[in-house]
Amino acid sequence: MPIQGGTDVMVELNFDLHRPAALLDLNPVAELAEWTSGGDGRLRVGAGVPYVRLITELGNRLPGLAQAARTVGSPQIRNRGTVGGNLGAASPAGDSHPPLLAGDAVIEVESAARGVRMIPAAEFYLGVKRSALEPDELIRAFWMSPAGGPQYFSKVGTRNAMVIAVCSFAIALHPDERRVGTGIGSAAPTPRRALAAEEFLAAELDWEARLDPAVLARFGELAAQAASPIDDVRGTADYRRHAIGVMARRTLTWAWNEFRSGHFERRAG
Ligand SMILES: Cc1cc2nc3c(=O)[nH]c(=O)nc-3n(C[C@H](O)[C@H](O)[C@H](O)COP(=O)(O)OP(=O)(O)OC[C@H]3O[C@@H](n4cnc5c(N)ncnc54)[C@H](O)[C@@H]3O)c2cc1C
Repeated sequence: MPIQGGTDVMVELNFDLHRPAALLDLNPVAELAEWTSGGDGRLRVGAGVPYVRLITELGNRLPGLAQAARTVGSPQIRNRGTVGGNLGAASPAGDSHPPLLAGDAVIEVESAARGVRMIPAAEFYLGVKRSALEPDELIRAFWMSPAGGPQYFSKVGTRNAMVIAVCSFAIALHPDERRVGTGIGSAAPTPRRALAAEEFLAAELDWEARLDPAVLARFGELAAQAASPIDDVRGTADYRRHAIGVMARRTLTWAWNEFRSGHFERRAG
């Protein structure tokens, strides 16, 4: 069993959920803890870059992911925990997944036998804690373009820190393509995009105008319909579906206000 930050692995060992024959410590692999800006302008972020460095070093370029990273656990967990580990665990409640989906991230994985594979985030999550990663593959990095427009992440929890999401939502405006990306967390067996909501905005959003309240409302409805939540100890299915609609409207409003005010362009320099 690979171990990076150990913030999932060690909990599972301590609770005796797994007894792996061996642990493969990835921490000595220095390359995993590096990020670079590739020739095509995209960022390649090593699977072992901890959340705290996403916030401090990449917060301007990947603001949606950095916002999500700020909500993960506590400072201790953010010092150790990584996106690679979040992807490895593939929990529907993992906080990095919605912004990875909204920002069109691609996951780079590798096996000794078959070499490197690039998996779009939208194809990575297959079921509850199940991903497209084969048993002989490791996650090397994820690739993502620096934000071309405002990005936001919203999470409902029972308190403000150290909490697994009841549900979450991420949005990324892609003004150059007149498109909006979305990601839903903890409201379906896997993290997923709200595809019909994205298609609706691609057709109906007037990028030169104020946000039409009817468009906003419909976007919220379609986002809520994209969820297929369950009742569990953290919340009911009805509450989650409702909250997804609310967060979809809120995050779109925040992103739109930032876009229209020109604040994003000024901040991005
Ligand atoms: C107190 C506490 C609070 C938490 N709060 C949150 C929270 O708010 N939000 C959230 O999303 N998560 C939270 N978590 C869960 C955890 O911190 C995250 O999932 C984190 O991203 C895991 O990263 P890691 O590097 O520690 O992974 P690890 O524990 O090292 O590994 C996790 C899984 O990924 C696999 N893995 C790791 N690296 C690779 C790789 N390179 N290739 C293939 N497989 C790999 C491991 O084998 C394991 O199955 C919390 C955990 C704790 C203990």
